[in-house]
Amino acid sequence: MRYISTRGTAPILSFGEAMMTGLARDGGLYVPEVVPTLTEAEIAAMAGQSYEDIAFAVMRPYLGDTFGDDEFRRLIVKAYAGFGHAARAPLVQLGANHFLLELFHGPTLAFKDFAMQLIGQMMQAALAKTGQRITIVGATSGDTGSAAMEAFRGLSNVDLFILYPHGRVSEVQRRQMTTPSEANVHALAMDGDFDDAQARVKDMFNDFAFRDGVRLAGVNSINWARVLAQVVYYFSAAVSLGAPHRSVSFTVPTGNFGDIFAGYIARKMGLPIERLVIATNHNDILHRALTTGNYLKDGVRASISPSMDIQVSSNFERALFDAYGRDGQAVTALLGELGAGGFHISQGALEYLRSTFASGRCSEDETSATIKTFYATTGEVLCPHSAVGVHVAGAHQSATPMITLATAHPAKFPDAVEAAMGIRPPLPTRMADLYTRPERLTRVPNDLGALQSLIRERIAH
Ligand SMILES: *Cc1c(COP(=O)(O)O)cnc(C)c1O
Repeated sequence: MRYISTRGTAPILSFGEAMMTGLARDGGLYVPEVVPTLTEAEIAAMAGQSYEDIAFAVMRPYLGDTFGDDEFRRLIVKAYAGFGHAARAPLVQLGANHFLLELFHGPTLAFKDFAMQLIGQMMQAALAKTGQRITIVGATSGDTGSAAMEAFRGLSNVDLFILYPHGRVSEVQRRQMTTPSEANVHALAMDGDFDDAQARVKDMFNDFAFRDGVRLAGVNSINWARVLAQVVYYFSAAVSLGAPHRSVSFTVPTGNFGDIFAGYIARKMGLPIERLVIATNHNDILHRALTTGNYLKDGVRASISPSMDIQVSSNFERALFDAYGRDGQAVTALLGELGAGGFHISQGALEYLRSTFASGRCSEDETSATIKTFYATTGEVLCPHSAVGVHVAGAHQSATPMITLATAHPAKFPDAVEAAMGIRPPLPTRMADLYTRPERLTRVPNDLGALQSLIRERIAH
């Protein structure tokens, strides 16, 4: 299996190389040269299998010779052993034809754990073979950072730096990033918003002297291995509702477009997914783009679903690459226009996107009302991100079962949940001491040079 860049000029890589590389050297994102398909019989055989077995079947075709079969099975088992639910990704029913896929039973209570725990295991195994040491720098709107801290803390061949927007993450998210005490993980609170943090990380990848000097690797959702790990739960959920014999649809609370892009890959692999519905909060660039054909930035506005407060959805580039017939030059030209504010999606590309994706937007009031209503009618406590999904799914009901992704545990966003329904959701007992652990963080300016100096200095020790 070979991986190519969405901008067409970076070196072609193996799975292991793409995982370590993150952002391609031409500024693009790695995608498989060909998406492997599973037969109906192979999908049918997943019925009743464990999450780990389904994970092996779904991901194995992408790995080439990066890991042996037994080794890969062991890495999967280790990755999900720390989850607080035996099913890993349980499905609960909200209404006659509406289901909720609970992706928040991992160690940091958000779906990011599914990919991050596995990537931690895979990187460690790959680095142990070469004895190499790498520096991982990631930007986070909250959940990626905490998941990465949890996955990489204490690993011997990795230094991890997480940039998060100062004052714009929830207290639980911040504490999950600032309380790990291991010396190889560093929480950096940066001035600015998530897009600023993500832009500085991209700047570091585009500075080849720095990139090569510190052996920079990335774990943001631009990393193909993360997308791949998320493909698995689309299969496990759809199969438990009757796939491949019955189609399903998914609604996905969306920010950086990584999670829903994994659904798109599952569909390309042969999973019968009718619709993938993009659910946005009031930062609705993707909903506007799909509706009007214009992908136009208009500034990030803080919301009660902060992990989706994003205007530039990095992974959308991967969908554009396919929508433009895998023309790297066309993608490069479009993304070039983004600096000046945005671009127009051609009619043909728009039709391609609309044949798979639908979209909807949820206001702040609608988010709160959804939390309140669904608690009253189902007993299910939704986090604000999941509530955005549930609200948007309501407008896309049909005879096809709808599965909405619950992307975080409500206790990760207790203020918003309490304001909406009057009850403060408690943390699961396995992490009840979070509020009493000491915090460790460094305040940093939104300045590339200053960030690079700090990283060079810290990894020298
Ligand atoms: C990251 C995140 C999202 C958005 O997922 P993307 O892959 O960036 O689209 C939604 N909800 C929660 C809770 C998240 O942590």
